[in-house]
Amino acid sequence: MEDTFGRKVDYLRLSVTDLCNYRCRYCMPAEGVCKRGHGEILSVEECVEIVQAAAKCGVSKVRLTGGEPLVRRGILDICRGIAAIPEIEELCLTTNGSLLPELAAPLRQAGADRLNISLDTLRPQRFTHMTRVGRLEDVLRGMDAAREAGFLHTKLNVVLMKGFNDDEIPDFVDIARRFPVEVRFIELMPIGEGDSEQFLPGEAVLTACPDLSPIEDSGVAQRYRPSVGQGLVGLIQPMSHRFCGGCNRIRVTADGKLKPCLHDCQELPLRGLHGEELLRAVQRGIAAKPERHYMAETGHSESGRNMNQIGG
Ligand code: SAM
Ligand code: SF4
Repeated sequence: MEDTFGRKVDYLRLSVTDLCNYRCRYCMPAEGVCKRGHGEILSVEECVEIVQAAAKCGVSKVRLTGGEPLVRRGILDICRGIAAIPEIEELCLTTNGSLLPELAAPLRQAGADRLNISLDTLRPQRFTHMTRVGRLEDVLRGMDAAREAGFLHTKLNVVLMKGFNDDEIPDFVDIARRFPVEVRFIELMPIGEGDSEQFLPGEAVLTACPDLSPIEDSGVAQRYRPSVGQGLVGLIQPMSHRFCGGCNRIRVTADGKLKPCLHDCQELPLRGLHGEELLRAVQRGIAAKPERHYMAETGHSESGRNMNQIGG
């Protein structure tokens, strides 16, 4: 289905939990978030029913996110239910990768097609500092497990932060030179705990690695090819390069609110709706997508939620 600005909306990002086993400094407060009761978050059946309704509206790609989707009890059942919906061509997850050593193979068997793994530093001490509790080696083992389980075209998400990982840009680009993966640099957004003092524009990647040549865009990412290797580099620049014109997505939060835009305060409650009523609510959500966000002008997001509550 098209929104009122002629954008074809075919992508749903579904947050399956607010909880996470990490506490990344730009995403979550140190104390984490209050655990909600079971009844407050979407059940496995509700998740599947919402995706079925979205599929009837033209959604063919679903991404499960969070919080950390792999800490959600029932994640494999959610995957199985969504993978069985005929209109859904691609089921992806965005994960911090730490639980992939145990879950990569079961996820693949449950019908997950592709993974994005978030990793902001390749240095063990920095990693533990940034995540407050994590160990880099778990994520590296998780990446191996994903490859062994048969996941192809895995993307690596790196949030750019001045004074934290800008000196590692060439090391990350080197991964794209050595392996057939897409390394995506994401501009830090002033949402949740994101500190605008640490903002670094995506252009910094092109300055640090002048051998990158532009190729075609993919969705909201501008893409580049290094002079050697099979990998790619992507820049996701919500701040310095408006990407709203290519936005093809809607989001649903773990407590069942449809967000037409990550940075807009509009939320449409979906819980308790079924059949035609649910379908009409999803259609209203798509129609309600605003033309663009105003973060670059205002310096803040109107979202009203942290990233772990929406799904990045
Ligand atoms: N826990 C999973 C993970 O880390 O991949 C999924 C949820 S996390 C909220 C999704 C993505 O949002 C991650 O790649 C994370 O780095 C990104 N993110 C969180 N806060 C952000 C911010 N303020 N600006 C830019 N990206 C952010
Ligand atoms: Fe957890 Fe992902 Fe947020 Fe880090 S970015 S605290 S891993 S939800």
